[in-house]
Amino acid sequence: MSQNGVAANNGSTRKGVTYNNILEAAQRPTPLVPLRKLKVEHQLQSDIYVKLEYLNIAGSLEDRTADKAFQFAEEIGVVRGDKVFVTAGGSAAISYATVAAVKGIKLTIYAPKGEFALVDTVLHTLGVDVVELPVTTYSEARAQTEEAAQQKNVFCLNKFTTNAAFVANLQKTACEIERAMNNKSIGKVGAVVIPLNTGAPAAGIAAYYKGTGDHGVRVVGVTCKKDTIPEMGLDLKKDLLQEYGVEQREVDEDEAYAFTRHLIGTEGIMAGPSSGAAVLEAIKLAKELPAGSTIIVVLQDGIRNYLRHFLDDDWITAHKKNVVTRKDGPQPNSTYDPKVLEYDPTKLAGEWTQDPVTKSWSHSDVEFNEFNPERPLVLDTVLDAIGKTPLVKLQHVPKAHGVKCNVYVKCEYMNAGGSTKDRIAKRMVEIAEKTGRPGKLVPGVTLIEPTSGNTGIGLSLASAVRGYKCIITMPKKMSKEKAIAMASLGSTIIRTPNEAGFDSPHSHIGVALRLKSEIQDAVVLDQYCNPGNPLAHYEQTAEEIIYDMGDKHIDLVVLTAGTGGTVTGISRKIHEKIPTAKVVGVDPHGSILAGPAETDIDFYEVEGIGYDFLPGTLDTSAIDYWAKSHDKESFLMARELIRTEGILCGGSSGCAVHYALEECKSLNLPADANVVVLLPDGIRNYITKFLDDDWMNERHFLDA
Ligand code: PMP
Repeated sequence: MSQNGVAANNGSTRKGVTYNNILEAAQRPTPLVPLRKLKVEHQLQSDIYVKLEYLNIAGSLEDRTADKAFQFAEEIGVVRGDKVFVTAGGSAAISYATVAAVKGIKLTIYAPKGEFALVDTVLHTLGVDVVELPVTTYSEARAQTEEAAQQKNVFCLNKFTTNAAFVANLQKTACEIERAMNNKSIGKVGAVVIPLNTGAPAAGIAAYYKGTGDHGVRVVGVTCKKDTIPEMGLDLKKDLLQEYGVEQREVDEDEAYAFTRHLIGTEGIMAGPSSGAAVLEAIKLAKELPAGSTIIVVLQDGIRNYLRHFLDDDWITAHKKNVVTRKDGPQPNSTYDPKVLEYDPTKLAGEWTQDPVTKSWSHSDVEFNEFNPERPLVLDTVLDAIGKTPLVKLQHVPKAHGVKCNVYVKCEYMNAGGSTKDRIAKRMVEIAEKTGRPGKLVPGVTLIEPTSGNTGIGLSLASAVRGYKCIITMPKKMSKEKAIAMASLGSTIIRTPNEAGFDSPHSHIGVALRLKSEIQDAVVLDQYCNPGNPLAHYEQTAEEIIYDMGDKHIDLVVLTAGTGGTVTGISRKIHEKIPTAKVVGVDPHGSILAGPAETDIDFYEVEGIGYDFLPGTLDTSAIDYWAKSHDKESFLMARELIRTEGILCGGSSGCAVHYALEECKSLNLPADANVVVLLPDGIRNYITKFLDDDWMNERHFLDA
């Protein structure tokens, strides 16, 4: 990690941070969030805080274990290029594979049989070999892995994994909990609830409290009655749990699925099923503990691996689970007054003006928020886990492409909802709540938004937390994973034809406008015209980049454009504060953002970027120049970032990095130049798309 001091206005030294690889960014503590609505719903006299382990670099608590296990292995001589075997499934497998990718270790994962298609695809993209063993238990799988390792004379990581989980959670998870409690003085921890698979993390946490002589803290592990929830109780170390006094509770599978869906929809806590099960038990425990107790629930992982599992109604029905599926939401009427379609997405609401002396911007309708670089350990709501994403220096990809300079990537997939659009969703809702523009957000209001998905996820998240109804209109091209993420957060999703132009009554914009005219108390926040869109990036994202880069000068910033909010907001701030820096916008072939307007509008696969009109939120004059992108290069680069840097990014991220490297080469940037690239989202939305070789092959994207 490098601390980048820079003199602040008040003369003190600000300390921003950049990371030398994504594993360093994992040193950041994960936040605690109180469950406010469930407290009211269950009339609890105690507080439950959830620890968001799904915001770790590969999406789970297992990242901590994997990091530690490889550290142990390195201490006894495992080095870059070595082969290593490990037994793992699910989130743990992804964590080991991600750490191995960063460290350049050739990993083979041995797993018992399971139904984890999404996980297998991620593992494959991370470049590990996966061996599915013809066994059903972890102990059998472990024995076979060890035997294979011995035969082939390969190092087997298994010998370290239990200890690594124990130590990592003792040293990190438990300490982070205590640090958070001390900082916020929210009272003393009464219990820590955590799902059990091996139980080693729970034992580590219990050992921490034992070591401090604090015998008042109960550590409660949760398993599933019939071992049917993924990654719960499948590899239990009973002796270890007993030794450290971890209590054990059991949940019913279907009840856990139903409750986890409820947790996501009411609190915006996008947790996996074992985590939901733990929260369910924590609620029961809260009713048993003395009033005023504090319970911490460690959330094992997030929704990523389960978008084709318990979050998918088709899966619920096919597997006959006792879980209520979602009801169909409203559809627009077939007849409508053509007047409702009168709308101009090319006009920004209000006016931006620039002070000719200070060069800083203001907006006619909105007061700006002051930049705050702090990352509190205890948040008010999960919406505060938006922003302050890590800036990571690429280690391998630039060199592999003949680029000498330093390339830093801003990992926006680490936002609470998984993308950079969480920022604008939160900001647009805040502005509407404060100013009543573009509509009043009274209780019961319905937010309707046309989006390519990520704004929809951000708005669904904000709506869940703030208690609004939400309808998302989205072209069919966008992934089913995005739709399931939004539906899980309680939104209704309406799919529209890809080929409908923005001004068609059948496009995502047209359908949103028609619905708005039909539904009482409906507000379209409208990311194409809302000043909160560029503003979120002007006030915060760009400031974070400047702060974290500290005294390292910035030469080039490369950003993709959809609504143009990102590129406009960041560009204005960068030009204001660093006049020598250049900002490049990347626009796909088939879109007209880079102009001229008469360019051929065509289909392309990368999601979230480009448009067939110039959104009001895009100020093309803020951008120094444009690059035009292709699908194939974009997806191949995203896959390369995943495989060689362990950066689990989405397709437009690959697009931004590929064309950033092209710019570096064409400008012949020297070794000491610094380039910043924003990675808008992560793999979660695309596991059945560009991560999947079949999908890539069908489109000839893997052809040489
Ligand atoms: N990439 C992805 C994956 C997105 O969802 C978006 C938002 N549409 C962008 C890039 C572009 O961001 P903006 O709308 O701020 O231009």
